[in-house]
Amino acid sequence: MKIEFPFLLVSYPDRTRESDCACAEQGVFFSTSDGFSESDCACAVGEGLDAPPPSAAGRWVLPPTLYRVPLPNGRQLVFNPVRSGAVAVLDKGASAHPRSFTYPYPSTGPLSRRLAALGILVPQEETRRTPFLPPPTLTAWLHLTTRCNLRCAYCYAPRGGIDMSPDVGRAAVDAAFRSALAHGFTVVKIKYAGGEPTLNFSTVQAVHTYAQQRAIRLGIGLDAVLLSNGVALTPSMLEWLQEEEVRLAISLDGMGPAHDRQRPRAEGKGSFEIVVATVDRARAVGLLPHLSVTVTRHNVDRLPEVIAFALDRGLTFNLNFVRPVPGTPDLMPSAKRLIAALRAVVKMMEQHPPHRRIIDGLLDRCDLTGPHRYPCGVGHSYLVVDPRGAVARCHMEMHTRVSTVWEEDPLEAVRATEVGVRNLPVEAKDGCRNCLWRYICAGSCPLLARRLVGREDVRSPYCEVYRTILPELVRAEGMRLL
Ligand code: SF4
Ligand code: SF4
Repeated sequence: MKIEFPFLLVSYPDRTRESDCACAEQGVFFSTSDGFSESDCACAVGEGLDAPPPSAAGRWVLPPTLYRVPLPNGRQLVFNPVRSGAVAVLDKGASAHPRSFTYPYPSTGPLSRRLAALGILVPQEETRRTPFLPPPTLTAWLHLTTRCNLRCAYCYAPRGGIDMSPDVGRAAVDAAFRSALAHGFTVVKIKYAGGEPTLNFSTVQAVHTYAQQRAIRLGIGLDAVLLSNGVALTPSMLEWLQEEEVRLAISLDGMGPAHDRQRPRAEGKGSFEIVVATVDRARAVGLLPHLSVTVTRHNVDRLPEVIAFALDRGLTFNLNFVRPVPGTPDLMPSAKRLIAALRAVVKMMEQHPPHRRIIDGLLDRCDLTGPHRYPCGVGHSYLVVDPRGAVARCHMEMHTRVSTVWEEDPLEAVRATEVGVRNLPVEAKDGCRNCLWRYICAGSCPLLARRLVGREDVRSPYCEVYRTILPELVRAEGMRLL
């Protein structure tokens, strides 16, 4: 590889991450057209600015929020946490680049344009406020069944023997598209979930076929993912997912006993071996399942093993920090253990640098794909539909019904109600307003805060973890780039 001087190494956020939750509402980010960014977008992202900045006339400057860390041999890591999520490493020559320029300006060179595209130089007026755009994607979580073949320690889903019928599923699709049109969304994302959705797979197929037809007819994009425990996925189901371009997310909480302890089968045996066999079968048919890892006090010390498993197989993953479920044992790991575990992951990154960026999936709701004021889409761009067609705001509050799929615009009801968890902008949270990481973390899951301290207008209970680990992850990413 020939490297020109001054040089700039960049990694872009991984937009393929998936999670149980509603995607964050994101603001402006600068998309890239240089082949580095992933194209298969799991979480909805804000509208990108494809034309390479600078595009705004006036003065462009280094923002005060710029995070800079010296690296070996005179290199420098730069990262703007209120802007693009791109991590860049500059050599000495690039670091000495002028700290501002005026556009249009005849001598604005490629490096200036590149730094502007990365959010490292920003229009002067944007140093005081970050611009946000409305999200393009409305996410609908469909609870296909209350049946499940596992008995996970942290399960929050209602249990029983109720399956969603194809008619209810089609009504849910219609409702999502009605609300999408009414509110200007250009993409509908459907999460086929449960319970275990493969136990009602014929409905998944019928609903998805219908959603494809509606999407084409209405000119709205469709994105779909099946959230499965990986136990009952047959070869023919995997082939169908591959053919229909439905992405697959499988829960895997660790290797061997670390997984089995918290995800046993209904009859009491572990599920690890079956899940791993499913992952490999999925890869054999060309699916790359995303691994969803729920972190509890029982598996927190074993995270590097499951991350190594994902990396060995070229799979994306994310860590979900467990939320407390009323009436069940407390499984939350202490901040101290979580920090120690994530430092072990950072050490692993240093000793065996992964061939791709992994920092985007390590910190639960922290999202580096673009600045966002809300940690998720609850109350804004998220519909949760139970098997009978009732609509709730969050999949962890399915008992709190606020609408149905037969109402004209369920999203309007979700937005208007004051029932259930409040999803406040990060500026409304005590202690978050001036935090450097506010548009990455957005104060994190409001339901977690509400369940632990009874309020949503406070910092995340995991704040200490975020503030400690985020700088270390960004630095580790800079070192990985080098
Ligand atoms: S919870 Fe903590 S890390 Fe997150 S935005 Fe608030 S102060 Fe920052
Ligand atoms: S409130 Fe929490 S659990 Fe519910 S979707 Fe948002 S981040 Fe997820």
